[in-house]
Order: sequence, then structure tokens, then C-alpha cells
Amino acid sequence: MKLQVPRNISDITPYPPGKPIEELEREYGITGSIKLASNENPFGPSPAAVAAMHDALADLHRYPDGSCYYLAQALSASLGIAPQRIVFGNGSNEVIEFLVKAFVGEGDEVVTSHPSFLMYQKFVQVRGGINHVVKLHDMYHDLDEILGLVTDRTRLIFLDNPNNPTGTLLPYERLGAFLEGLPDHVVVVLDEAYIDFVDEQNRYDTMPLIEDVGGRCGVVLLRTFSKAHGLAGLRVGFGLMCEEIAGCLHKVRQPFNVNLVAQKGACAALADVGFYQKTLQRTAAGKAYLSREVERLGCTAYPSHTNFFLIDVKGDATALYEAMLKKGVIIRSMKAYGFNDFIRVNIGTGEENDRFLGALAEALKECGYA
Ligand SMILES: *Cc1c(COP(=O)(O)O)cnc(C)c1O
Repeated sequence: MKLQVPRNISDITPYPPGKPIEELEREYGITGSIKLASNENPFGPSPAAVAAMHDALADLHRYPDGSCYYLAQALSASLGIAPQRIVFGNGSNEVIEFLVKAFVGEGDEVVTSHPSFLMYQKFVQVRGGINHVVKLHDMYHDLDEILGLVTDRTRLIFLDNPNNPTGTLLPYERLGAFLEGLPDHVVVVLDEAYIDFVDEQNRYDTMPLIEDVGGRCGVVLLRTFSKAHGLAGLRVGFGLMCEEIAGCLHKVRQPFNVNLVAQKGACAALADVGFYQKTLQRTAAGKAYLSREVERLGCTAYPSHTNFFLIDVKGDATALYEAMLKKGVIIRSMKAYGFNDFIRVNIGTGEENDRFLGALAEALKECGYA
């Protein structure tokens, strides 16, 4: 075999395949481990969503509705936006892929931040586009640097807001001024995967930004059912945008990209406001508790507008990650992101939070950080 792989593909580092929890447990000889590493909702899915999905199984001999009609209607009503301005994906990851497919050709440029969500750059590489990567400044997207990199070839700018992994939210005035300063051939993608977790005092309405005001760049908002709605395994996300951009994305998507069970589950999750509100309350309470307690252990907790936060453990993060893993607590070391002493942890159930704190206290001692 003599495979001919284009350079832009052979250069790609594959997404590190995480092992199933069961395999990790066998390898480390542990049981009952907990995972606080992927920013999932520890309380869900909503029982109503599970029931709706169970009912949907009987229809699996049919293709799904390619327009996600009922889900679009439901979101249209709750968000106050025309259904034709919503584009659905197999997770919001797929909408990111649509954006890159639709707008980025070989040699076109995209600006992203580091550290930030890694999928943006990956899709650009697949298309043979050019990634410009700007370091965060004090944990925030460096909007001035990003603006300075914009050229005639710039097609997309990705900003996860709040940012993963730092949890920072751009001040509205800064974001508004940035958008005003951009030429109108650029599309800015605000990835709002964690927007649900922003509290009322800090929350601002980004919906007006997607209006086609003329002269200014286009804006796309990305949302997902994977986090606050507790449906990460189901794979449903969507983008909000003007009709012209939506038309471009529809050209590059498969007709049945969101499966039938997923459409039913997402509709039911959206209707279960009680579950959603409870998730937000419990997450906020858990975040306050965990932040306070890790500080008592001598670590520094970074404020976050999401369901996760960064912790400075004051020593090599990967060694601490390994020590935690042996105790059956799976978290994320931020060393690969350039934060050598930082771990990222998402809020768990009350029980999981205490288990995490117990393991952290022991691991800090074992590693000699406390
Ligand atoms: C978790 C996450 C998503 C969600 O992706 P899905 O494909 O919808 O599961 C998107 N963006 C960021 C920054 C995330 O952290």
C-alpha cells in the first residue's frame, strides 16, 4: 500500500482518544471512579428527555426530519428568532465544521485563540486553510492582537465566550467595539457552549449581534445541548445567524445530520425547564463550594462563568492528575495547554465534589505541594 495523503492531513495530530472509564478502572485496579474532566452535566439527562427518546425508538425505521422542524419551532419560540436562522448539527462541533467547510478554502485564513477549544483549528487544517493562533492575554481573548491579524484572506474568527478552559467572559463593550472594527467579509463565531451558566449580573444579550446591519462583519452564535441540558452523548447543537449565512451552511450539510432520537430528546429537554433551572442552581452552588474549599487546601481557584474552573495546584499538574487518577478521580491537567501548574475540573454532584476534595487533599500531600 502506498497511500497518498495531502500534507495538510498528514500533519494533523489525531484527537487523543480517551479510554472508557471501565478500561481505566481495570488498568488502575480501582472501582467507582468519577469523571470531572469533560464539563458534562453530572445531574442529567432530564428524565423527561429520556422518556421521549425511549418513545422515539419505535420510529427508528424512518429517516429523521431533515429540517428539525419541531426543534426549530421550539427554539424559535424560546429565543425569539425565525426558525430559518437556526442551523442544527450533530453537536455544535458539526456546525463548526459547516462554517469552515462553507467559508474556508485552501490558503484562506482563520484566527483562533490559545488555549481555547481545539476543534476550530482541526477543521481548518482539514480544509487546507491557515490558522493564526493568538495567545490569551490574562486569561481573556486578546481582541487587539486578533484584530491586527485580519487580512483580505481572513474568513472566520472563533471566540469561545465564555472561554474553555479559562472560563472568562468578554466584557460586552469590548466585544461590541471589536465587532465594529472588523471588515464585513469576516464572520465571527461566538461559541456560547457555556452561556447558560453565566449568572444574571454578568449576562448580556448577544442575539442582536447576529443581525445583518450592513458594513459590519457577520456574527454566528453557537449553542449546544451537551452542557446545561445534559445531553453530551446525544450530539445536538445549533448555530444562530442571519439567513444568508444559514443558506451557506445548508449547502454543505448532509440532509439527515441530526438523528431522529436526538431531535426528540432535545425537544423534551428544552421543555423541561425545571431540570434545566435546577442544573444551573446546583452548578452555581457547587462552584462556590468547590472554589472555597480548594483555596482552603492552599490552591488558587480561578473565577469562571461556566460549569468548570481552573485550579492552580502550585506544582506540576500532570503529576497531580496521575495521583488523582489512582484514587479514581478523573480531572484534566492543563500542562498540554501551557498551564503547567493548572488543572481543570467541572462541577459534579454534591457527593462527587466531596470525593474530589478528599482526593485532592491527599494528592497534594503525596505530590509535596501542600
Ligand atoms: C463542550 C463544548 C462544545 C460543545 O460541543 P458539542 O459538539 O455541542 O458537544 C462546544 N464548544 C466548546 C468550547 C465546548 O467546550
